[in-house]
Amino acid sequence: MYDPNNIFARILRGELPCHKVYEDADTLAFMDIMPQSDGHVLVLPKEPAAELFELSEGAAQAAIRTTQRIARAVRDAFEPDGLSIGQFNGAAAGQTVPHVHFHIVPRYADRPLRGHASEPQDPAVLQQHAARIVAALG
Ligand code: 5GP
Repeated sequence: MYDPNNIFARILRGELPCHKVYEDADTLAFMDIMPQSDGHVLVLPKEPAAELFELSEGAAQAAIRTTQRIARAVRDAFEPDGLSIGQFNGAAAGQTVPHVHFHIVPRYADRPLRGHASEPQDPAVLQQHAARIVAALG
């Protein structure tokens, strides 16, 4: 059952703010407020679905298309050594917000990842990072 008041549903409706990097008719991408590394972005399909299994084929296509596009921009903006893309289904898998999303997490060889959803980043830093990604999107 989809909870229409989960935090990402509220961001999608514009009821809560986010550091947006990209939006189109089907998807929204913004900075994770507790980034595991610098440049950590979340990509959401707008379609209401808690887990990947419930997502329509069209929304899944839109989500992966945007994920690839944003991942390229994150790579260009931050020049990480690698880049992980993840998507969790269910609390047992580590999902904490019940609206489908893809994590784009730059990986730096000299820096360990911060914990999952554990360390809030300074909003001014998130804004700078979002601006770098927006610039890389062109
Ligand atoms: P999940 O655990 O569901 O895969 O990932 C949820 C992610 O959302 C976590 O990485 C967490 O840091 C992030 N997050 C939680 N609340 C908010 C919020 O209000 N705004 C933003 N931008 N990210 C959030």
